[in-house]
Amino acid sequence: MERRKFLKAAGLVTAAAYVSPKIFADEKSSDASSVGDFSPAFEFPALPYAYDALEPYIDARTMEIHYDKHHRAYFTNFVNAIKGTSLETMPINEIFASMSKHSDAVRNNGGGFYNHVIFWNNLGKGSSGASPELSAAITKTFGSFDKFKETFNNAAKSRFGSGWAWLYINSDKTLAVGSTPNQDNPLMDLSAIKGTPLLTLDVWEHAYYLKYQNKRADYIDAFWNVVNWDEVNKRYQAALK
Ligand code: MN
Repeated sequence: MERRKFLKAAGLVTAAAYVSPKIFADEKSSDASSVGDFSPAFEFPALPYAYDALEPYIDARTMEIHYDKHHRAYFTNFVNAIKGTSLETMPINEIFASMSKHSDAVRNNGGGFYNHVIFWNNLGKGSSGASPELSAAITKTFGSFDKFKETFNNAAKSRFGSGWAWLYINSDKTLAVGSTPNQDNPLMDLSAIKGTPLLTLDVWEHAYYLKYQNKRADYIDAFWNVVNWDEVNKRYQAALK
């Protein structure tokens, strides 16, 4: 039960589980005991769909290597980096909020673990699009949905080297788009952009090189065909509370 309780707290009970931004972001862990059992024995979260589920936009071979090699390595290295330290019992949102005090291993692997969980869950086919509430907020912030996509695409294209593009919600509940280098994310105290993630795109070359080679822009365009808006809508609603 204890391990399950942690996984539930982290939104990782099942692969398809909603990863609550409340858990990772602004919610102060009044129930820190719920993650007290975070141990190296806990399971690597399953991918919420088959490797070929996002074809042809994201190919099965890329998904397999990305999930089973890259993501798994971040998970394993994160667990090893916090093993036997005080971070072992700290909620991951608090680890992120105090990241400037932690090692590069915790920063890179903790971010690598968490960012991919968000990413897998905000991908999928067949969602019904942004909710009326989120659509209205997007229009208010960016002028139109197309302008939002253009802003997001530019953030993804202009991130030099490896990193992530984000749609996130600020502490004042307004929307923003930006990018982070390497495995940083907007929950980290040392990040230049700060907020709760709603939608993310991995722009590391390992995310697209097999199919798109150097053409990051083509991968970014393809991404919009497999955004799981149902998940993004849920994160937005949770973050508003
Ligand atoms: Mn990746």
